[in-house]
Amino acid sequence: MRRILVAANWKMNGDLESLTALAQGFKQQIDRSKVDVAVFAPFVYLPMLQQQFAGSGIAFGGQNAHTQPKGAFTGEISLSMLKEFGSTHVLVGHSERRTLFAEDDALVAEKTALAIEAGVVPVVCIGETLEERESGVTEQVVAKQIQAVIDRIGASALAKTVIAYEPVWAIGTGKTASADQAQAVHAFIRSMVAKLDADVASALTILYGGSVKAASAAELFGQPDIDGGLVGGASLDLQEFVGICSAV
Ligand code: PEP
Repeated sequence: MRRILVAANWKMNGDLESLTALAQGFKQQIDRSKVDVAVFAPFVYLPMLQQQFAGSGIAFGGQNAHTQPKGAFTGEISLSMLKEFGSTHVLVGHSERRTLFAEDDALVAEKTALAIEAGVVPVVCIGETLEERESGVTEQVVAKQIQAVIDRIGASALAKTVIAYEPVWAIGTGKTASADQAQAVHAFIRSMVAKLDADVASALTILYGGSVKAASAAELFGQPDIDGGLVGGASLDLQEFVGICSAV
């Protein structure tokens, strides 16, 4: 039985005071008996989360990591640095990284492999653009993104990942995919993995991301192949995020 995971992606938002208050709110107000929670924070706030979430069972991590363990990579951060401050998870291949920072499928696959090697759970983000959806190639796009990861790590290592299906047209736009649209792609992803490894496919956590709100969460999370959400904007609002977690 897969547990629901709700992950917050704070992106480059907030400040020490507001994010500390949010972290405290998450800790105090989310009933974790039915839901796992992870928070992806700007790097500089990881020590704060390490302190706030100590003993709470709430996981956290960085929104990106470099492929190299150390060296002359000004402005970058390594997986071991993230781990030093308690990160157990890392976002990989978020659509903003793919489009704004030119991360391609091969780099995303490499980062996924390195995170697994480092013992950090990669939350691998995939999804189609509006143009791709309208051209009817959603499944091909998603399949190609996943295949690149499988080619690098093998199907059985997907057991050490979380997949986040995030249609690009739904991220930060207020347009959520309908529960049926999201379920169809999640089922496609699971069936693709099942052809290679049925056990891994049935245990694989596949999150939906794209303008998830408290009002839409219950229907989305009620779908058979949707195992929770990756939440951007609404994760900066304590009541919305708590509402999303209680929709489980
Ligand atoms: C995201 O950034 O991963 C995301 C899904 O953002 P939002 O919830 O704001 O659409």
